[in-house]
Amino acid sequence: MNVMTPSMLDQRAYSDAAKQFLSRAPRLFINNEFVSSSHDATIAVEDPSSGREIARIVDASDADVNRAVAAARRAFDDGRWSGLPPMVRDRTINRLADLLEAHADEFAELEAIDNGKPKGMAAAVDIPGAVSQLRFMAGWSAKVAGETTQPYTIPNGTVFSYTVKEPVGVCAQIVPWNFPLLMACLKIAPALAAGCTLVLKPAEQTSLTALRLADLIVEAGFPAGVINIITGNGHTAGDRMVKHPDVDKVAFTGSTEIGKLINRNATATLKRVTLELGGKSPVVVMPDVDVAEAAPGAAGAIFFNAGQVCVAGSRLYAHRSVFDQLLEGIAATAPFWAPRPSLDPEAHMGAIVSKEQHDKVLGYIEAGKRDGASVVMGGDAPSSNGGYFVNPTVLVNVNPQMSVVREEIFGPVVVAQRFDDLDEVAKAANDTCFGLGAGIWTKDVSTMHKLAAKIKSGTVWGNCHAVIDTALPFGGYKESGLGREQGRAGIEAYLETKTVIIKM
Ligand code: NAP
Repeated sequence: MNVMTPSMLDQRAYSDAAKQFLSRAPRLFINNEFVSSSHDATIAVEDPSSGREIARIVDASDADVNRAVAAARRAFDDGRWSGLPPMVRDRTINRLADLLEAHADEFAELEAIDNGKPKGMAAAVDIPGAVSQLRFMAGWSAKVAGETTQPYTIPNGTVFSYTVKEPVGVCAQIVPWNFPLLMACLKIAPALAAGCTLVLKPAEQTSLTALRLADLIVEAGFPAGVINIITGNGHTAGDRMVKHPDVDKVAFTGSTEIGKLINRNATATLKRVTLELGGKSPVVVMPDVDVAEAAPGAAGAIFFNAGQVCVAGSRLYAHRSVFDQLLEGIAATAPFWAPRPSLDPEAHMGAIVSKEQHDKVLGYIEAGKRDGASVVMGGDAPSSNGGYFVNPTVLVNVNPQMSVVREEIFGPVVVAQRFDDLDEVAKAANDTCFGLGAGIWTKDVSTMHKLAAKIKSGTVWGNCHAVIDTALPFGGYKESGLGREQGRAGIEAYLETKTVIIKM
């Protein structure tokens, strides 16, 4: 008989507000209403800290997707959103941000329950991050503008020519499970500011905060049909969204494999596409660092959010002279990063999002060991009553051919390698199909700039890692993506440029 004994890894009790939300019937959000699906298919929602089913969501049918796209199409075509004064769009998006802030604690708890991340982290990172995406982009509503341009080949004064910026149209937005609400707001904010309408599909593992956001969307005063939220599987509902003829743009964040598939599928109707995809980001530690600072920095680069971060610093390159000391410093952070249930106030690292992902991460560690890697920290799962926990792991004695070095694990696993000089480490850092982020640790300004120039990635951090700000463009080189999100580039991705030439 398997007797369950209470453990440090047992999930804590949910609040009454969370219990009430979880008891809702599965619904979709279309035309500002919670509506039933055309069929009965649902998907189980699990708490990764316990492995228990806690609710169900709709697995949207093709008919459901068609209905959501039709609502977004109508709302776009009649101009009920794009035709409003930009000030009104700005205020409405900001009102949504206000409401989110007012319900921050509830959203942080739901995110923790649904995703497995510590509630404290969701409260410190995910929810404020979502709010800042909305606020920053809201301000662009009134600031997108074309220009008047003197033609090059036409005599002056014979034509009047100018450009205008117009919203792209109906957007299909598909987001992953690692920062569910933050990713959702990162997608909807620029689309709304530009005047687009949209259908959002959160990942099927983590749809709860997007559904709760729907309540606030109504309260904030968005016209019906501007924001529609579909839950369901990627290969069915997501696929239908991407191929739908009435969708003008697809914005996707997720794996490189699915990103490539989506890009191919969207080509049939030449939809606008932006892709934010996977990574295998290097962290380079030069010999001049203060190890006491760099070691917790390198540990945080990989163990934050249990390594389920697209820019996780999963390849560590430490100069031979500091390698051993650095690894000792990282090992010393093990108690801080020890996994705990998401509602434990002491938690810094939570559970992995699902059993599938948990097994995948452990499978990579086993493959690394089979290939000859040695575990110097972690390398296993703590025993728990059903939660999907993995201990923070450091692997050494690795080589560039191993899957743990080449592939994105998306878990708390870092491979550490030694190097001797700058050119060698730049080459090693670039020896990947990815190019999303890179961290450099050095006190030498010249080394910092030299390496920043050599490394091929969308973002380079100096003496920090994964610092992301809504005003700064974010995206990938190589197979890490297409286009940029955030900053001015973020809103541009939701605009078409129209040129008008009038003979005088
Ligand atoms: P994923 O498997 O690619 O899924 C992402 C989303 O795509 C989910 O909503 C998924 O639905 C949906 N999807 C799956 N197949 C689809 C299809 N054929 N057509 C349309 N949609 C489809 O990625 P994930 O495992 O959720 O997330 C982890 C990945 O995201 C990692 O590779 C990570 O690096 C990347 N990521 C990148 C960034 C960035 O900004 N660059 C940020 C965060 C994460 P289901 O849930 O039903 O499968």
